[in-house]
Amino acid sequence: MNVADKSTEQIWHGTAVSSGVAHAVVHVLKDHFDEPDEEPISAKEVESDLARWHAALEVTRVEIEAVQKIMEDEQGSSEADIFEAHLLILHDNSILKQVEKTVREKLICVDAVYYRLMCKHMDALRGLADSYLRERFLDIKDVTHRVMRHLRGEMLQHPMFEDPVIIIAHDLTPSDTVQLDRSKVLGFALETGSANSHAAIIARSLALPAVVRLHNICDELHSGDPVLLDGDEGLLILNPSPATLAKYRKREEQSDAREDALQITRHEPSITSDGFKVEVCANAEFIEEMDAIRDSGAEQVGLFRTEFLHLEDPDGSEDWLAECYTKAVKAMAPGEVIFRTLDIGGDKVDPHASGEPEPNPFLGWRGIRVSLGRQDLFRKQLRALLRAACHGRAGIMFPMVCGVEEVRAARALLDQCASELMAEGLKIPNDIEIGAMIEIPSAAMSADLIAAEVDFLSLGTNDLIQYTLAVDRLNERVADLYQPTHIAVLRLIQRTVEAGQKAGIRVCICGEMAADIELTPLLVGLGLNELSVASSQVARIKHAVRKLNAQECRKLADEIMQMSSAPEILAKSCTLAKTKYPELFA
Ligand code: PEP
Ligand code: MG
Repeated sequence: MNVADKSTEQIWHGTAVSSGVAHAVVHVLKDHFDEPDEEPISAKEVESDLARWHAALEVTRVEIEAVQKIMEDEQGSSEADIFEAHLLILHDNSILKQVEKTVREKLICVDAVYYRLMCKHMDALRGLADSYLRERFLDIKDVTHRVMRHLRGEMLQHPMFEDPVIIIAHDLTPSDTVQLDRSKVLGFALETGSANSHAAIIARSLALPAVVRLHNICDELHSGDPVLLDGDEGLLILNPSPATLAKYRKREEQSDAREDALQITRHEPSITSDGFKVEVCANAEFIEEMDAIRDSGAEQVGLFRTEFLHLEDPDGSEDWLAECYTKAVKAMAPGEVIFRTLDIGGDKVDPHASGEPEPNPFLGWRGIRVSLGRQDLFRKQLRALLRAACHGRAGIMFPMVCGVEEVRAARALLDQCASELMAEGLKIPNDIEIGAMIEIPSAAMSADLIAAEVDFLSLGTNDLIQYTLAVDRLNERVADLYQPTHIAVLRLIQRTVEAGQKAGIRVCICGEMAADIELTPLLVGLGLNELSVASSQVARIKHAVRKLNAQECRKLADEIMQMSSAPEILAKSCTLAKTKYPELFA
């Protein structure tokens, strides 16, 4: 689609992955740039070319100093020191002299000369094991990218925004999301992605509209373009007309009224009409979400994804981590916060970690495998969690276990950390709940063995579906095959619930499936004790649970477990849902 007339309304259709509507200007994040060509220049052009470069260096200096100031105000001096190093690289005399000399002598445009020289410095440091030198590599890369973008008149990849914006990007990795100024972001519109990518999950957590699969929008839109993003219908509307805006205003009023009605009962317990309690908890990624979670009606945090804090500062100290976890625990008191230990890997790549990119990251070094392999990191986290548990109710669960032995190994390390802390004089509560995530088919198949070692099981259905069906949760080409109601997935869930019941421990679902109101009858019928969902969905799911009759749901589940077609299973559960709470489908 070509943007011919700047004032004409134009619509892109994508896939809605997080509901809501936002109206703002866009900010286009360019995630790569092509290497500059070695364009020849004439002797007459040398001075203006170098002046352009000096101007880019100057804008970069102002920008780095601004970020440095914010860091100083927010985090203290140690974070701000990183930017001191960036300024030294920016003003490095030998680099400045060498660039000028080469441009003058070889008559090549400054973009290529500067870029090649900085690449040479990066090449010398790339792949070194020493963590200090590796950091210098990242510093040079950061500065080079900033200068190159200014040379080309492009915006920065992770700018600070003055006004609210809708982010347009090809893709948004978890580490991109962490770096964004989230207080100014009103929504995400991405070229690629899926409902189960972490960008979509975060958008739902932060209650921001998000639309994915908007092909080529990064090329079609420019930062500053006004758009309306519709996360319910999956639309991105450039230059929305007054009539469109009026239509959306009306729709918003109606949906606000429906939402208000739902919110009235959000703090009431979620008990089915025949007295079966299904606890509804919230999932969290950021400390700043805790107030919204408390206000959502969630009784506890069923999944705190700790890797986002880690990505904010991979070298953060144990003290800093303990402080962050304590904040979360205190905010939810007297409710419990279940912290999941680091699930780094998959799409949550730590950009500071060394090593080759993984050929198949979702089947590689991820979750508990990283923690057991990097015990320095794991022990730091476990100690911080235990320290937070002294200030309120903190539970701990281990992600991506493929069997009971990993659970035993993780527990052994946790016990060691607890003993150390007690020897240091800390009084660790003896009722900290320990759980395991069931998100790999082998873990579901051995759920009875795992259940014997833990206090609760938590089904990570986002991964359980992808690993059971061999369907990459991020790959839009196979998105149709990603079926939560595939009978094989349901059998694994059923097996896990039965293992939990036999061991007398609770079983939760904290994957996105738990927030699907069409599936609530089936999940209640399968005997799940807890559903942990984005905070924006808590009131809705509690309402659904209250409208259901557990016995009727069990009968539904019994019938469904005899069926074989995923769409028919979905339709059957949905039919009961629509008769019990039609108001949620309006
Ligand atoms: C899951 O896999 O369902 C889950 C909750 O974990 P994540 O989405 O972070 O992989
Ligand atoms: Mg998972």
